[in-house]
Amino acid sequence: MSDSKHGPSTRLTEAGRKREWTSVPGTKGSVVNPPVWRASTHLYESIDDLAKGRPNEDGHFYYGRRGGPTQWALADALTQLEPGADGTELFPSGVAALACTLMAVLRPGDELLVTDNVYEPTRNIALSMLKQFGITARPFDPLEQDLLADMIGPNTRAVMLESPGSLTMEVCDIPALAAIARDRGVLSIIDNTWATPLGFPALQHGCDISVMSLTKHVGGHSDVMMGSASAAKPVINRIRRQAQFMGQVVSPDDAALALRGLRTMKLRLDRSTATAIKVAGWLADRPRVSAVLCPMLPGAPGHDLWKRDFHGGCGLFSFVLADGVDKAARGRLVDALDLFGIGFSWGGFESLAIPFDPAPVHTVRAWPPGIDEGSGLGVRLSIGLEDADDLIADLGQAFDAMGQT
Ligand SMILES: *Cc1c(COP(=O)(O)O)cnc(C)c1O
Repeated sequence: MSDSKHGPSTRLTEAGRKREWTSVPGTKGSVVNPPVWRASTHLYESIDDLAKGRPNEDGHFYYGRRGGPTQWALADALTQLEPGADGTELFPSGVAALACTLMAVLRPGDELLVTDNVYEPTRNIALSMLKQFGITARPFDPLEQDLLADMIGPNTRAVMLESPGSLTMEVCDIPALAAIARDRGVLSIIDNTWATPLGFPALQHGCDISVMSLTKHVGGHSDVMMGSASAAKPVINRIRRQAQFMGQVVSPDDAALALRGLRTMKLRLDRSTATAIKVAGWLADRPRVSAVLCPMLPGAPGHDLWKRDFHGGCGLFSFVLADGVDKAARGRLVDALDLFGIGFSWGGFESLAIPFDPAPVHTVRAWPPGIDEGSGLGVRLSIGLEDADDLIADLGQAFDAMGQT
């Protein structure tokens, strides 16, 4: 069970460091970090012991596919960080966590409602992959709560949420949406990768399942891929069962990297949030920027809800180029950046930039209200741990390189 008696920084330091995972039974002393236990085969004492079997729970040696102490320590740490969770399952990527969680809770004939601004691979899982199993999915506008209530029908089994939304960064009223779902007996699943439970304790806000791509903030160093799903019982047991059916396992080496990343996650999030707010404020004053989609920035879309519900942010936000800027000009801007790499993913220590056009992805509404003007050409930034002034200077010279529009 998660433990919320300590503050988030203390929990990040303590979580997952149970003595049985950091010491050798019968000897004095211990080490700080759970060692990397590389193991496929786990051994039994005797035939008798084998016949008795082992409980199907973390903390019991059985076979490598159920993990070992390194993976258990990480899962336990993530459970500690998510108030309301009874357990966490680990997956080899965020997408694997999303796909397996949806398969765990949906059955043929069920319907899934999916927020229109969801991460694109999640949308593809919902609208294409699940179709093979006779599960239908419909996108909904996350900014229109009443519409969600109207869309829930007798076959609706789950709602897939994400806030802020991928790329367009709309903040929606998760507590209200989750309450609507719960009232109707519908499970709510949130992709909580952006905020992590430090910024948004999703189960406390009424969601049933919190999924994260650990590739982003938890890993934090652009060198590991992993995903997680945390929930209370009995839902977490269903996810565990599905994960075991599908043979989902992560390596102990990767689990150790994720644990290492976790220890500094709050420091990194606080720092990149502060830098992102500075960079977003600077962008808001550029004449060739029509909107800054950064919920942490006062006055930006979603800021009031973000302030009400979130305890923190991160370095990921987007901006829209003004009317008259074309794709070639946007290309010159991004190409001219020196400190920002061009690449997918985010949440690493290094800054990244990627162009995006939301119109072809969103089907309910291309743009949130208030930012539906401008060129329709977006750029997403992931702000890392560099100095804010250096990033702003780099963006300044890139806007110069973009030139006339
Ligand atoms: C990257 C991402 C994922 C997928 O995670 P992977 O670890 O890359 O599979 C899921 N959700 C969001 C919001 C993401 O940005």
